[in-house]
Amino acid sequence: MTTPMKEGSAAVQARRVLVLNSGSSSVKYQLLDMEDRSRLAIGLIERIGEETSRLLHTSLTGGAATRERTGRIADHEAALKAAAEELAADGLGLDSPELASIGHRVVHGGLRFTEPTVITDEVLAEIERLVPVAPLHNPANIIGIRTAQALRPDLPQVAVFDTAFHTTMPEYAARYAIDVETADAHRIRRYGFHGTSHAYVSRKAAELLGRTPEEVNVIVLHLGNGASASAVAGGRCVETSMGLTPLEGLVMGTRSGDIDPAVTFHLKRVAGMSVDEIDVLLNKRSGLVGLCGDNDMREIRRRIDEGDERAALAFDIYVHRLKKYIGAYSAVLGRVDAVVFTAGVGENSAPVREAAIAGLEEFGLAVDAGLNVVRSGEPRLISPDYARVAVAVVPTDEELEIADQTFALVERLGRTAQPGQAEPLGQVDN
Ligand code: AMP
Repeated sequence: MTTPMKEGSAAVQARRVLVLNSGSSSVKYQLLDMEDRSRLAIGLIERIGEETSRLLHTSLTGGAATRERTGRIADHEAALKAAAEELAADGLGLDSPELASIGHRVVHGGLRFTEPTVITDEVLAEIERLVPVAPLHNPANIIGIRTAQALRPDLPQVAVFDTAFHTTMPEYAARYAIDVETADAHRIRRYGFHGTSHAYVSRKAAELLGRTPEEVNVIVLHLGNGASASAVAGGRCVETSMGLTPLEGLVMGTRSGDIDPAVTFHLKRVAGMSVDEIDVLLNKRSGLVGLCGDNDMREIRRRIDEGDERAALAFDIYVHRLKKYIGAYSAVLGRVDAVVFTAGVGENSAPVREAAIAGLEEFGLAVDAGLNVVRSGEPRLISPDYARVAVAVVPTDEELEIADQTFALVERLGRTAQPGQAEPLGQVDN
């Protein structure tokens, strides 16, 4: 779309997208030029509200240069203003007519938001209505949106939802086997998260296989500090491991993943813990960190090499869960064309990939030891030629996916409506 400049000057192509990922105490941002999908700047502001706040801004126009600011950044509004100042210092100010849109990562979109959506007051109210099912994430996303709107009220801003890719799951995969009325009254069901990554990585995996997304069935293993698996059939998600919240599924850096729900009753009744304490235990003090004190896979591998048994057991528990999901999702898909590893652990930890696939030859799965240890930032196959199912490593890029989806939507909007006018929102209500 084009945005007119001052009267008398030539119209400027608005082709930049700012991607904002606003967390509870941090804001990550990237400015992209959608002409060639290149990064112009990348930034991270952490420990917002503390005395030790820190902003790291990397300017990528004319070679990479990183600037750092330390000292208290009081709130999200101050954080975004600081980011805007850094961008302006690079000649990339948010007031530029070249900025086409701001794309926001929004964690929970419920059932209603199945696609990227232009943010109107009504959309924002719905994101707010979902706070009870995403109490940690949606409030921070809302603050980010409000602050960005105040900075550029004239600009169409877009919400890209972590849950959207999973809304294609069949009802029998999404519904928990609990009382239907209770579940519906409180919107309790499997929503899934990391959807932007699962969408991007499953598409890239199809590309790597030289096929279209519609032609392939893939299992995506997003193994970062948070971790989730998904089964993607012909480009559509049919099952995913995270649930109502990101706590379910795989063993993660600090989250337990799957657990007998009665453990929580036991912790309350027998161990005398409060619900909040149990929440913290399962979300922050479990997973790898709970099992061995470390959540960084590099450190865990280092300890294993030194003979540390706790670290070795944590690794085995982590890998065992992964294997269970690979098996389960193979059964769900019937035919699997590729198992794909992504995110911090998935992209970088050859031992995790090797151990997760070991022993699955009967499933047509194998890893080539040589290919597995090659370090590369590119999508690549790590299975031997003879393997029936491809095993791949595909670096995820959630920011690029958010920018692509945002830009595609505002371009469509620019063609069909006046700037600032919202798209019709006709989705199923939740
Ligand atoms: P993410 O949430 O995707 O940024 O992933 C973060 C996690 O990736 C860290 O906690 C580490 O466990 C893991 N990680 C990052 N780099 C490496 C590496 N070179 N080798 C093994 N694990 C890594």
